[in-house]
This record gives sequence, structure tokens and C-alpha cells, in this order.
Amino acid sequence: MSHVTHEVSNQSTPLADVNLFSGDRALHDALRFNHPAFDEARFVRLGAEAGSAAMQEHARLANLHKPVLHTHDRVGRRIDQVEFHPSYHALLGSALSHGLHGTPWSGPSGAHIERAAAFMLFTELEPSVLCPVSMTYAVTPALRANAAIFADWGARLGDTRYDARFVPFAQKPSLTMGMGMTEKQGGSDVRANTTHAEFDSDTPWGRAYRITGHKWFFSAPMCDAHLVLAQTPAGLSCFFLPRLLPDGTLNALRIQRLKDKLGNHANASSEVEFDGATAWLVGDEGRGIPQILAMGALTRLDCALGTAGLMRQALAIALHHTSERRAFGKRLIEQPLMKNVLADLAIESEAATALALRLARAIDRSEHGGDAHEAVMRRVLTPIAKFWICKRGSHFAQEAMECLGGNGYVEEEGAGTMARIYREMPLNSIWEGAGNIMALDLLRALRGADVAAALAQELAPARGAHARLDRLIAQVAERVDGSTDEIAARSLARDVALVMQAALLRQHASDAVFDAFCASRITGGGADAFGLLPTSVDFDALIARAMPH
Ligand SMILES: Cc1cc2nc3c(=O)[nH]c(=O)nc-3n(C[C@H](O)[C@H](O)[C@H](O)COP(=O)(O)OP(=O)(O)OC[C@H]3O[C@@H](n4cnc5c(N)ncnc54)[C@H](O)[C@@H]3O)c2cc1C
Repeated sequence: MSHVTHEVSNQSTPLADVNLFSGDRALHDALRFNHPAFDEARFVRLGAEAGSAAMQEHARLANLHKPVLHTHDRVGRRIDQVEFHPSYHALLGSALSHGLHGTPWSGPSGAHIERAAAFMLFTELEPSVLCPVSMTYAVTPALRANAAIFADWGARLGDTRYDARFVPFAQKPSLTMGMGMTEKQGGSDVRANTTHAEFDSDTPWGRAYRITGHKWFFSAPMCDAHLVLAQTPAGLSCFFLPRLLPDGTLNALRIQRLKDKLGNHANASSEVEFDGATAWLVGDEGRGIPQILAMGALTRLDCALGTAGLMRQALAIALHHTSERRAFGKRLIEQPLMKNVLADLAIESEAATALALRLARAIDRSEHGGDAHEAVMRRVLTPIAKFWICKRGSHFAQEAMECLGGNGYVEEEGAGTMARIYREMPLNSIWEGAGNIMALDLLRALRGADVAAALAQELAPARGAHARLDRLIAQVAERVDGSTDEIAARSLARDVALVMQAALLRQHASDAVFDAFCASRITGGGADAFGLLPTSVDFDALIARAMPH
């Protein structure tokens, strides 16, 4: 016979069945600023779906039941297929139905901005299924360099009808793509790639090669094709390598095993070998690195967007929990020191959203109409946003988790979402160029166009608003002349990010957010522990603005 020993009380309810968009004032204001004509109804629909308890359950299940690799069939033939839980397919289908992959490439001006904001919202539901979605978005500029393949594949990379079948491309309405650069001996320095390509024949898709070698990290191997790097006599070159050949036979790509990862559990990341796999040249022989980096630069945008989305999700959960949980006679959200932590997280989350969407606008505007200023901002803000937003991600997730106390550290809490967010954060920082690589890329960007003039134009709206900000802007202007040493690259990347975030918050956040941002971040620090805001800050205004409902 069971006995009731106590009543369960003072535990928070799940944050479920909320509209993720309607409750996100910061995202709304950033969207309005960057793309005033955005389709609000689209976001309300997506916000409701991504915030629903039913989709949250799919996210839980897709992470609980990790992908399983089947190298062979029952009778010993190679099949090299990964089996996913049905919830993975439900999530990926939803992401494609909302056009988070290749749709902006055929869309009107503003399409990249809308897609970026939608990507951020969907990340709050589940980030790991967005890995193939992101790569499918990013591949178009690189793939265009092979016009014949692009003619067959391009439109289907933006088709919203997800098709999970492992069948030749011609039978599928939509297609997904990934990328393979990293090898055992080098990931950042891909010049060390040993995988090699031998010319085979001229075909309707251009020059076909046989690829032999391996990739040490090869995410989303069930994508229909990947861009890979391999050596030719002319140097490292970019190739289009489909999983199934046009005649339906399995290409000679062997999935060796799946990575046992810290997080990102719903997504399969694999190690692969190519045993004379058939692939087609994309772009010029010997120009593989710039060719594939046209793709890599766009996935870097998604690392920044994804981290900003995860920050928002962690903040919303922390605000919701502390508004229901009581300690020492008050709701936690009413305790002064908890207000300081929550308000500080809210500032960081809004600043990340602002910077990530600004980068999306630079991409949109430079794609539509070739705006020269936006092209410079795109080049500079890509490493800046990837570096700084992702660097702040893990730290942010830890602090938001702490707002939930012990429950935050437990897998069951809110369907394990805080733990999931925490495990996901470092990944956005590492892949597609880890922190140092981003800071060094900024130095390269500074050697190109007149970045000082472009930044001056960007930062003008914030001038005169805050004395310390004016001083930091003046310092940054002196340091972007291309003379910064590598050893100081991170501090320059941080400072450019901070002045950009301040200028954006000045233009589309509340005065309370801007003032608190300057009072806390523009002090020569900007990376302290959270909850150190000065007492002059309007804590209640910051928290009210960030509340998810
Ligand atoms: C889950 C997951 C999925 C992935 N999926 C893919 C994928 O699908 N396709 C793919 O190609 N790759 C993928 N990667 C690989 C990822 O992009 C690389 O791990 C990353 O680029 C770093 O390369 P590396 O691991 O070889 O580390 P290294 O290149 O050895 O770098 C180690 C450290 O050294 C630093 N460093 C390197 N050079 C310098 C320098 N000159 N100065 C200062 N510091 C430096 C780096 O910033 C990093 O912190 C994935 C990684 C993970 C974790």
C-alpha cells in the first residue's frame, strides 16, 4: 500500500503551448528594424508551432532516441544508412515546411532576413535537426559554380516538401546537402587535406572524378549530396558528391561510425571514407577553399543565429521558472539579486539577436542589389557575430540553468531543455571555424575593403549617446586599420561586436536596454559574470520587456 508522504508544491509548470514569436519583443523589434515589411502572420504561425507541447515532445524523443548507423543489410551488402526516430523526421519536415533551408535564394528582398529570424525561432524548439537545414541553405552560392548540377538540384534545395526517402535525386521533390572538409590531420587548416581526386570522364554534369580518402567529421550523412574538398594536381578543389548516383547505385562513400557527441544528439555526425567515390568538380580546380567557404560563411551566420535562439530559449525558461518559484517569502523573480541576473541575461539575449539579424540583413542586401556597404558589413560581421555571440553562449546557458537551481541540471526538467541547451552551446562555437579562427578571419577582413569607413557609418546613430561608448568607438576606429597583431585579435573582435551591439540596441531596443548594455559591457570588460549590473539600471523594465508571456 502506498502512502502519501507530502504534497508537491512550489514547482514551476512547463513552459509549453506558448507562441514563441508573440512573446519575443526583442526579436519583433529587431525584425521590424531590419525588414519593416516582414510577414508577421508567418511568424505567428511558426511561433505557435515551435512553442507547442506536441513539437516539444518530438524534440525530446528525437534527442532521446539517437540516430543508429546501419553499415550493412541483412545479407551483408553495404547500405551506409542512418536510421532516425520518427520525431526527427517530424521536426525536419516542419523546418523545411517553414522554408528554413534554400527558399530565400529565389525569394524577394528581405527573404534572407525572414529566414534568419525563423531559423532563430525554430532553434528554440530543436537545434540539431537544423544542421542539414543550415547546410542546405548555405550551399546555393557555391553550387551555382556548376551550372548543370545547379539546374537539376537548385530549385529542390528550397522545396518545402520534405522527403525522407533514400532514393535518387530525380525522384524527390526536395533535397538536402551537407559539407565535408575536416580530416583527421586538420580541420581549421584544411590545406592539410590528403583526400585526393582523379579525373575520370567528361559528363553532362561536367568533369567527373574518383575521390579516395576520408572525412573525420561529416554531419548529416543522410543528406542527398555533400560538397567535399579533395586534392587534384592543381591543388585543393571542391566537389559535388551525391550519396546515390543518378542511376540509383550507392556511391562509394562508407560511413565508418557515428560520433558519440556531448550534445546535438538528434543529429548524426559521422566519419566517412571515400573508396573511389564519384564526384563532380564545382568551380575551378585548385580553388576549392574559396569555393567551399562561400558555403561555410553562410553556415557561420547560422551558428550566430542558432546561439541567439538558444539564448532566448534559456532566458524564457529562466524567466518563466523564477516567476513561479518562491524562496525566502517572495517569487524568485522579485528577489533583487535574481532581478539583476535575469535583467543581465535579457540584455545579452537581445544584443545577440540584434547582431545576428544585422548580419542577416547584410547578406540579404548584398545579395539583392549588390549594396557595397552591406557587402563590407557582411564580410566583417560574419566572423564578429560567430565569434562573440557563440563565445557568450555557454556562459549564458550556465547562468540561465542556475536560475532553475538543481532542476536546471536534471535531464527531466522542461523535457531536458536546459541540459540540451547547455550541451549544444559549445558546438556552435567550434564548428565552421572555432573562436581563434574567427578572430583571425576578422584580421583578414580588415585587410580588404575600407572597414573603418563602413563601421563609422554603422556606428553613427550611437555617437553622443554614452561617453564610454564614444571612447570605445574611437579606439575601435584606430584598431581596424589592419595593424592589429594576431595575439590581440580576440579583444578586437570582442570590441567590434560590443560597439555594433550598442549601436543596434540604440536604434531598436528600449532606452533601458541600451543604457544597461553600455553601463555593463562598455567598461573594458564585457565578459564578466552575469548579475553585476549597477544599481542604477531599470531592472523591472528590462525584465518586463523580456517576459515570454
Ligand atoms: C559535432 C560536430 C560536427 C561537425 N560537422 C562537420 C561537418 O559536417 N563537416 C566538416 O567539414 N566539419 C565538421 N566538423 C568539424 C569542425 O568544423 C572542426 O572540428 C573545426 O573546424 C575545428 O577543426 P579541428 O577539430 O581539426 O581542430 P583544429 O584545427 O586542430 O583546431 C584546434 C584549436 O586550435 C585553434 N587554432 C587553429 N589554428 C590556429 C591558429 N592559426 N592560431 C590560433 N589558434 C588556432 C582553433 O581555433 C581550435 O580552437 C564538426 C565538428 C563537430 C564537433
